[in-house]
Amino acid sequence: MNEQEMLRALMGMSEPDEAELRRERDKARQLRKTRWWQQKTASGECWYCGKKVGYANLTMDHVVPLSRGGRSTKDNLVPCCKDCNTKKQSLLPVEWASYMQRLDGRGG
Ligand SMILES: [Zn+2]
Repeated sequence: MNEQEMLRALMGMSEPDEAELRRERDKARQLRKTRWWQQKTASGECWYCGKKVGYANLTMDHVVPLSRGGRSTKDNLVPCCKDCNTKKQSLLPVEWASYMQRLDGRGG
């Protein structure tokens, strides 16, 4: 561990290493083939905005991104429309959080 890595770890900002990321992405890919995911996307609804976009237009999204320490677990994976996916990627985490708060009235 070099000095910079140690500093990052101390500050709680350590990033998952490449092998770990690959493992988590693999896990997500496996989960996408399961009945659980089929059921989750059957309604064709985006988990974030609630828009019905149809099964084919839903992507799998990590609520907590892998790059921020999220994992490919069932409670961290949600169906997401392309709009939200693009938005989430273009916003800072804090901006995304406030966007989510605005959506919170949807009752989910
Ligand atoms: Zn959406």
